[in-house]
Amino acid sequence: MNGFDLTINNLLETAVMNNGDQKIVYMDRSLTYKEFYKNAMNLSKNLIKIGVNRKDVIAVIDYDSLMYMYGYYSIPMIGAVMHTVNIRYPPEIIFYTMQRADDSYIMIDEVFMDLIVKNAAYLNFIKGIIVNSKDHKHFDINIPVYYFDDLLKDSDLEFKEPDENDTATLFFTSGTTGLPKGVSFTHRQLVLHSIASIGALSNEPIKYNINDVVMPLVPMFHVHAWGIPYTSIMNGIKYVLPGKYDIPRILETMNKEKVSMSAMVPTILYMLISDKNAKQLLQDLNLKVIIGGAALSRGLAERARAYGIDVVSGYGMSETAPILTLAVYNRKVINKSDEEKFEFRLKTGIPIPMVSLRVVNNNKDVENNGKEIGEIIVRAPWLTNGYIKDKEKSEELWKDGWLHTGDLAVIDEYGYIKIVDREKDAIKSGGEFIPSLILEDLISTIQGVNEVAVVAKADDKWGERPVAFINGNASLDEIKIKMSEFVDTGRIAKFWVPDDFIFVNEMPKTSTGKIDKKVLRDKLR
Ligand code: AMP
Repeated sequence: MNGFDLTINNLLETAVMNNGDQKIVYMDRSLTYKEFYKNAMNLSKNLIKIGVNRKDVIAVIDYDSLMYMYGYYSIPMIGAVMHTVNIRYPPEIIFYTMQRADDSYIMIDEVFMDLIVKNAAYLNFIKGIIVNSKDHKHFDINIPVYYFDDLLKDSDLEFKEPDENDTATLFFTSGTTGLPKGVSFTHRQLVLHSIASIGALSNEPIKYNINDVVMPLVPMFHVHAWGIPYTSIMNGIKYVLPGKYDIPRILETMNKEKVSMSAMVPTILYMLISDKNAKQLLQDLNLKVIIGGAALSRGLAERARAYGIDVVSGYGMSETAPILTLAVYNRKVINKSDEEKFEFRLKTGIPIPMVSLRVVNNNKDVENNGKEIGEIIVRAPWLTNGYIKDKEKSEELWKDGWLHTGDLAVIDEYGYIKIVDREKDAIKSGGEFIPSLILEDLISTIQGVNEVAVVAKADDKWGERPVAFINGNASLDEIKIKMSEFVDTGRIAKFWVPDDFIFVNEMPKTSTGKIDKKVLRDKLR
């Protein structure tokens, strides 16, 4: 052991040595990596001064702000644990997760303080609240309050750095079925996840590098914003923080800062390109966007392409830190034509370095034929060890030494996987499986379909039948004609055609912005 641990501390230190003059931008502020490092170190030291101990858990409650970015570094750098709180949960679930995580401090923007002040009675386990309030507003609460800017002041306190196996972060899954489950990650896992992600991202068509300007639109509470706050700083990239997701302002900022790279769930991409100024503000950016969290449909990818946006799929989950695959080009694909390569970006991708991924059916690996469906199971150095305080679910997750994703996929001759469904969402009609994501992909290409979700409806005869929910102004006749075409050309089986097409003005969304199929299924009951 040479004493150099894989820690967030070392990740930041070398990034600052290499690219100390690179910028981090938030609203009308811009600061260099070097200034960020100085402030982050002061914050670390002052957190210790107010009483934060190693292993203490600090809940961060904010939009994607500069304070959040400090949290990503300053909290783990002293061996404490950052709990990224999902601000879109209902209050009772927020408090449930805070209690279950054993949070002892809160780092919060003043705009969220009402929630805390009103519910202080449920928060008797909290020892202190660090508030970002420019005017040092007074809060009527019995818990000690510290002001965030005070904690950035110079301090010469010395502290012991964490070990690479210390826990650095924790957060809770989206919880679409049952209560959210907690997962945690160590420094070592996060550093390895960053290195492997950068390795994969350096490939075509992303080629993520020092000339890029990144503005992630993955909430910082959602699986480390897919690791981008770490990978980008490690790679010396200009980082633009979006704040609250106000689409017109985000588009203006993207244009002003010449953002070249982003990442988001499909819903956010749909919202971006639906804005009336999107074309004008985005078209000269050569924007690359990683789409993850849910399948990238062909219809959305094609619409984005018309806006000059280069989309690429990525896949992962809360339990996996998150990145498992990216649809970058491998050697078998890289020399194909642009049109052919576009098809590969719509797949779920190839495993990033150090991810061992299998698609298995009845304990046997499926053939690489793009047809046989199995469950994705994975191993990698950065997967969560299990769920916080839930032995049973942890054992289920890690059956036979592999993490079971519950995602169903095929794998093609080029080694690219494509998720066709989630076990939980799978539709079984007459004992036969109907892959909802393949149907959604095709329906998304029909003129006037903006968003689509296919879910199971209980059926006396068949057990279940598919029903498609559609947001858009497509005509039902046109949809039916297209569905017959898909059947006639052999793209889908006849029995896959949904029994009903239900038009909605808005799709229900989960707390992480994905279409909430559970709500749609409930509507059908
Ligand atoms: P979460 O833990 O909330 O981020 O959700 C993870 C789940 O989102 C995965 O298990 C998949 O079901 C789904 N998911 C993520 N990325 C993709 C993708 N590229 N294609 C299809 N489903 C995805």
